[in-house]
Amino acid sequence: MNVISSQNISFEFFPPKTDEGESQLQDTAIRLAEYHPHFFSMTFGAGGSTRAGTIEMVKMLQGKTSVPVAPHLACIGSSREEMVGVIRQYQDLKVRRIVALRGDLPSGMVQPGEFRYASELVALIRETAGDFFHIEVAAYPEIHPQAKSVEDDILNLKRKYEAGASSAITQYFFNPDAYFYYLDECAKHSIYMPIVPGIMPITQFSRLVRFSEMCGAEIPCWIRKRLESYGDDMESIKAFGFEVVFHLCQTLIAGGAPGLHFYTLNKSEATLKILENLNISIHRPNLPRYVASQKIG
Ligand code: FAD
Repeated sequence: MNVISSQNISFEFFPPKTDEGESQLQDTAIRLAEYHPHFFSMTFGAGGSTRAGTIEMVKMLQGKTSVPVAPHLACIGSSREEMVGVIRQYQDLKVRRIVALRGDLPSGMVQPGEFRYASELVALIRETAGDFFHIEVAAYPEIHPQAKSVEDDILNLKRKYEAGASSAITQYFFNPDAYFYYLDECAKHSIYMPIVPGIMPITQFSRLVRFSEMCGAEIPCWIRKRLESYGDDMESIKAFGFEVVFHLCQTLIAGGAPGLHFYTLNKSEATLKILENLNISIHRPNLPRYVASQKIG
């Protein structure tokens, strides 16, 4: 049986819109920092957040825990000059990892700006900062919804790899075969970088359906029907959701996945329950678990 350590685990957050949301995020981050994960990541743009909001939350997390923070950076709708400015700002903040994305144009916005694809942003980061950053990119075992073809989507990951990506995180999925098949396809295309599965804990039905429709992730029929059958019974949804996602993680680890990246939605409970039940050894560097009073700078 393959075993992974907490150094192969990462947690994704999004910039909250309210003070209450921010304090929930802080609590979640401090709780999850006890695992000494590889890194935290902070989304950009999704749900209408701004670049300034992402930068603020990166600074906040840097101040509250010793876990490295990786901002997501989406290039669609931006100029090269703007992107270079943000890359330099992250260098100044001693950020060493960036999740480089194309992103999606907000509805109503039609100008794509100077970038068409994430591979161009990866190339710009390398051109601007050399090897300073570890660059994560997005990967799609169930194929990106706008891909010209299945083959072209794999070739897109290869373009990002050849432009300088260091590793990839996948869109979430519930069918492990999609991931393992994708890994084989990537190997056939000589894409030699870790491809870490993105894990979405299931805690709610309607929101999961909405997200999945937006990002093209499939909810297998048997999972959808069971979740639907629980109606408003949140306890049963959470219990079933835990079983499904825990089993998925076990299968991924046993099959050799290089790590797990959790889409936490700024909550710790469901993720912690999965982690506590997985055979994950906790990596303990000689660092304080959290540094609530540490100054940023
Ligand atoms: P790209 O890799 O550029 O691909 C976009 C599409 O273009 C694909 O269909 C691809 O096949 C196609 N393509 C690429 N190059 C070419 C080419 N040369 N010719 C033809 N077709 C091409 N969204 C946010 O808004 N904020 C976030 O913080 C965020 N975080 C994410 C994190 C992860 C781990 C993942 C998996 C997704 C995330 N997303 C986020 C969603 C992502 O922005 C969308 O899926 C977006 O539609 C595509 O971004 P990308 O970086 O994958 O784009």
